[in-house]
Amino acid sequence: MRESPVSLTIDLFADGVQHGFFKLPISTDESAWGAVMTPISVIANGEGPTVLLTGGNHGDEYEGITALYKLAARLTPEDVQGRVIIVPTMNALAAKAGRRCSPLDGGNLNRSFPGSPTGGPTEQIADYFTRVLVPQCDYALDLHSGGRTLDILPFAAAHRLDYLEESLGVEQCRLQEAESLAGALAFGAPSAMMMFELDAEALYDTAVERQGKVFVTTELGGGGSTTPERQAIADRGVDNFLAFSGVLRARSRVDLEQDIERQRASQADAPLLIDMPDASCYVQSEHEGLLELRVALGEQVTAGQCVARVYPLGRAGQAAVEYRAARDGVLVARRFPAQVSLGDTLAVIAEVVDDLAREAS
Ligand SMILES: [Zn+2]
Repeated sequence: MRESPVSLTIDLFADGVQHGFFKLPISTDESAWGAVMTPISVIANGEGPTVLLTGGNHGDEYEGITALYKLAARLTPEDVQGRVIIVPTMNALAAKAGRRCSPLDGGNLNRSFPGSPTGGPTEQIADYFTRVLVPQCDYALDLHSGGRTLDILPFAAAHRLDYLEESLGVEQCRLQEAESLAGALAFGAPSAMMMFELDAEALYDTAVERQGKVFVTTELGGGGSTTPERQAIADRGVDNFLAFSGVLRARSRVDLEQDIERQRASQADAPLLIDMPDASCYVQSEHEGLLELRVALGEQVTAGQCVARVYPLGRAGQAAVEYRAARDGVLVARRFPAQVSLGDTLAVIAEVVDDLAREAS
């Protein structure tokens, strides 16, 4: 396969702190010999694990983007044993435009993996992650939130890795899944989840998991902005994940686990554990119109309960269409804008469980 056309302005292997870019050549009406400039920081100090922290995979998900810009400005080589690679805006042009997808080619980066060195710009950036950045890391954390069209109960998540059993072997899959779940719990968001993806094939998540890496994803809010409370969850979560990976000199994984134990002991702070067993969690619209959500994020619902109504816009006196939960659970995500179209996800209802670990067989 062709080498990646991306080049770096910094040395990924040097100790110290470096802030620069990875550059993808592009040729547009505005810039004949131009480049997509994606900010990247490396903070490294001797032996230890490599942690890859990413945000802005979707450009309008600001909690993670903000947390990583803050971290890049504050982390010093003295804080670290090993290497921390930070990419606050994976899809840099989308982030600049305040959009989910790239304004250059319309590409949704998180539907473009593993990518291609000969594809469009978004696929070329995906390929650079898949073949250059991800292989270098031991732990990866990708920070998402709902963006402009969703609002999501803040959680960190891992995935069931049954799909990798054939390629990686059952033992590796179980270890990797357990370690990823431990990472999601260590992140310390108010909720932790085993996440079911509607279409996992072209996700960054899948590209990372296929390489045998410990991988945690998050959803930290949404609506295309941040709040102080949600930003604090993102900031604390990033620090916790670094401690979990063993890359911080001042705070070990043992320290972190003691913090988690203390948290569990005080029931008020224990995380809500949620599972998404299958696609019945998703309530999607078959109508267009005005949305009225009937339950709030975090609220319990029962199967058959009306969770949303959609009113026709432009004609009075019409009955609303009611959307009902297909399962018992808690509302973990909702559509954010009040207008809906056919196919929009209106609500996501996940199951509350006592334990997310796989039952011993
Ligand atoms: Zn996202």
